[in-house]
Amino acid sequence: CKIDYQPAPNLLENRVVLVTGAGDGIGRAAALTYARHGATVILLGRTIAKLERVYDDIEAAGGPQPAIFPLNFEGATLKDFHDMAETLDKEFGRLDGVLHNAGLLGRITPFEQYNPELWEQVMQVNINGPIWMTQALLPLLQASDDASVIFTSSSVGRKGRAYWGAYSVSKFATEGFVEVLSDELSNQPNVRVNTLNPGATRTQMRRTAYPGEDPFTLRTPEEIMPTYLWLMGPDSKGVSGQKFDAQPPRV
Ligand code: NDP
Repeated sequence: CKIDYQPAPNLLENRVVLVTGAGDGIGRAAALTYARHGATVILLGRTIAKLERVYDDIEAAGGPQPAIFPLNFEGATLKDFHDMAETLDKEFGRLDGVLHNAGLLGRITPFEQYNPELWEQVMQVNINGPIWMTQALLPLLQASDDASVIFTSSSVGRKGRAYWGAYSVSKFATEGFVEVLSDELSNQPNVRVNTLNPGATRTQMRRTAYPGEDPFTLRTPEEIMPTYLWLMGPDSKGVSGQKFDAQPPRV
């Protein structure tokens, strides 16, 4: 946890960084924060109007001109991911970071009642889509001097919890995938891949999962950004295959 990290103002200057689920919640805060620290941010998400608002906010703050990439992980095909890689290749020729942040909660419900279609949907958005997107983007990441790939995990991706179903399983799969990929890339020090658990954060997803909780007891997405910056930027160069938390455990 690097909640006290003091990033340089120009930490991500000249870096091209893709953020998935950039229209809302933690992804929105990450996109704005990365841009504020100099990154050219590619805003990926499924609701274009939300992405356009983030785009406008970055421009209004004087950040580098971002790009919008509309994509819904449900229904996205390998061709979509390869088309995307081709577009990014033409535009930038490389990719210096990916924050895999888009996520779907599914339902908090006993496994006996879990709807199989919903299970597949959650696995598609939280792990299968991001994996195939990563495969398509690998050549662009390898073209960078220092590329950081961050997968978003959860406490239920490190210890299972009753009723969390596909969400928990998808986050375990995320942790496993990062172990596999980081091991494979261990001879390529210019591409690192880690998992980051934001911890309880004031967003719509958290409100849905814990409807009885007072949101004002939670940190905001903006407050957890120091670890997101540290892991995306050069100060974590060489760190790979590790599990991080964006905030200290709650007592
Ligand atoms: P939100 O629900 O606020 O935001 C999720 C984002 O993912 C939205 O931008 C959403 O787009 C996007 N998204 C959802 N489904 C798809 C899809 N099919 N295709 C493309 N984009 C999609 O969640 P948070 O900000 O809270 O969560 C961000 C990440 O952090 C997730 O991976 C979550 O699992 C993880 N996390 C969050 C915690 C918390 O306390 N908030 C705790 C632990 C982990 P749209 O706005 O269009 O719906």
